[in-house]
Amino acid sequence: MQQHLLHTPKLIGGILFILMSLGFSACEKTTEADCPEACASSNLQHVKRVLLIGIDGCRSDALQAANTPNIDKLIANSRYSYTLDRGNTDTWSGAGWSTMLTGVWPAKHGVKDDLYVGKNYGAYPHFLCRVKEASDCYKTASIVHYAAINDEIATPCNADALRDYDEDKRVKEAVTNYLNDCDLDVIFTHFDDVDHAGHSRGFHPSIPEYIDAIEQVDTYLEPILEAVYEREATNNEDWLIIVSTDHGGTIEGTHGDQNNNVEVTRVFGIFRTKNTVNPGGLRYSPELVDIVPTIFNHLGIPINNTWNLDGVGVAL
Ligand SMILES: [Zn+2]
Repeated sequence: MQQHLLHTPKLIGGILFILMSLGFSACEKTTEADCPEACASSNLQHVKRVLLIGIDGCRSDALQAANTPNIDKLIANSRYSYTLDRGNTDTWSGAGWSTMLTGVWPAKHGVKDDLYVGKNYGAYPHFLCRVKEASDCYKTASIVHYAAINDEIATPCNADALRDYDEDKRVKEAVTNYLNDCDLDVIFTHFDDVDHAGHSRGFHPSIPEYIDAIEQVDTYLEPILEAVYEREATNNEDWLIIVSTDHGGTIEGTHGDQNNNVEVTRVFGIFRTKNTVNPGGLRYSPELVDIVPTIFNHLGIPINNTWNLDGVGVAL
């Protein structure tokens, strides 16, 4: 009996340990940064770097209506458009993210919905694949809420960090940790709560919950953007920061199969470098496919004609 009592705490502790190992490790991934090792020798200067931020389902008019001091501070030094064209076909997330990340329209990348049937990423890969092909010494990350972006699009690219989380807050923590603790060159990150608010309450500037979600993401961007500004202030780094989205939405809470609805197809794009020339609104409406060539231009990666990209870089 005595022996039994002595062993009980150990037994309980053991069970707790097993439960924690099973339960918490399955659904609670750490946001700690697992820093990739730098190349021993490389021609890369690691001056030019990229942070691409995707806010799923964020309408331009709602972004302008919301109180977003961190995005406002970014925009003050950016070239931007509130009429960026995400394409008037296949207004689903899978199609939109595929377009943004590959730099070609669905006719080429093959994804027309969220099922990823017909994907043609072999011929038209995620831009991170091209970055790693240019030099494996570029250290890259894709840190997302919508796991399919990594599972379907980014996985073949040999990214140095591939993380997905079921909360925007944890995406924010992970990206901030990577920026503060590691030496990454190219980061893509994705937030999903705005899209969720749109689906449940409606995508429209008049919907308080939708506006709240945009304002919440803006607070998540604060430590991320501040970390970039801090890196630029202390290191010889020049970050291209782009913020955009995959589609807008309707007040009824939908966006799929809305090809002719500008509330869904007309979105926004914010493009900022450390020394953006002539910050302000762009006089034309760039397209979602222009993001990838803008990234390659900033990094100094020559665009190969055989890649068959559909866009052109935004002049910054
Ligand atoms: Zn979406």
